[in-house]
Amino acid sequence: MSTELSVVGDRARIVPASATASLDARLKDLTASGQDVINLTSGEVDFPTLPSACAAAVEAIASGLTRYTAVAGTAELRRAISEWLSARHGTSYPPGQIVVANGAKQALFNALMAMLNPGDEVLLPAPYWVSFPHMITLAGGTARVVTGSPGGGFKITPEAISAHATARTRALVLNNPVNPTGAVYSRAELEAIAETAERLDLTVVSDEIYAELVYPPATFTSFASLSDDAMRRTVTVNGVSKTFAMTGWRIGYAAAAAPVIKAMTAIQSHSASGPSSISQRAAFGALTSPDAVAELARRRADLDRRRRILIEALAGLPAVRVPFEPAGAFFVLADVSACLGRRHGGTVIGDAATFAQALLDSELVGVGPGDSFGAQGYVRVSYVVPEARLREGIDRLHRFTSALRDQGPGLR
Ligand code: PMP
Repeated sequence: MSTELSVVGDRARIVPASATASLDARLKDLTASGQDVINLTSGEVDFPTLPSACAAAVEAIASGLTRYTAVAGTAELRRAISEWLSARHGTSYPPGQIVVANGAKQALFNALMAMLNPGDEVLLPAPYWVSFPHMITLAGGTARVVTGSPGGGFKITPEAISAHATARTRALVLNNPVNPTGAVYSRAELEAIAETAERLDLTVVSDEIYAELVYPPATFTSFASLSDDAMRRTVTVNGVSKTFAMTGWRIGYAAAAAPVIKAMTAIQSHSASGPSSISQRAAFGALTSPDAVAELARRRADLDRRRRILIEALAGLPAVRVPFEPAGAFFVLADVSACLGRRHGGTVIGDAATFAQALLDSELVGVGPGDSFGAQGYVRVSYVVPEARLREGIDRLHRFTSALRDQGPGLR
């Protein structure tokens, strides 16, 4: 028997360290040392948290709302979520079919933990949010990646779902609007997917965290609102992080059939308990604020302006292509494959990660390499920075891509 004591078990070994850790570290170091870095990798909006949320949190502290809450979340918050979902998305989830978690991330994790048996397969459209494959694996499942066509915004189709489904396929994880592509599924596209899910008897985990960030003429449709069958087979996940600029407050939620919510609540009771009482009151303050909807519309219009600026500018860059126009979230996925194999100064750009590293080193602009999103040859560019900074970042990107040179004996 080995006397060597291993502190890390098998489950930890299946989750690799972040593929972008060194880029992130360099980005932070450069920023901390006072360099003029333009960070276009961000996953959060740059607006302040809704004032009504902050006021509710202050009041919660002052009035002693500082104890454990019910594991599934306070009754007032679950009622507010139920009413919000009904008013905004046309779904009717009673408060008893809602569980509040520490961010949408924990809600997604608990949903997969509650649902999967070892070896169950989960269809995962690519490009995907970085955490999905690891969540599925940690929950004992196997991710089967489904990739749509770039020109169609990478959106998956019923045909692609059918082609990848096997007898072991239990679920489909559908993120709409999509991180990292910014694609938004139309109602007709979702209806076709819902029919396929019914035929194959798949549970649909619908991550709708960017629901409030959809730009006209595109519109958002909640998967569960499509039909009674869709309502039964969907676990709807959402939260306040992206909607109300509350990423640090850690409040997300899931709404689903009662047995799923019961199982998720049991798992949460032994891992995290209910989320922070103060954050829950803050989320309640945001969801019930009389001017929340008008403020969201103002913020959406502001982001839409930046979206247009970025799409137009990227299309004008040498060797960069935007294969489709994103209509949601706050990302543009840019195809930089034409830059690969070329060099910038002494660096040969071999992949999207090297592209991002060289761009950061030479122009102090951060973008997210697509490799960890299942999008080789692409970079994700966020537009959640002030307009002037976005324009400056684009100018620097232009300088960078204009300076790329072919390799070989006839170096130009
Ligand atoms: N889903 C997607 C697609 C996301 O992009 C994120 C955040 N980056 C989350 C879920 C998690 O959000 P939260 O902050 O509520 O945990």
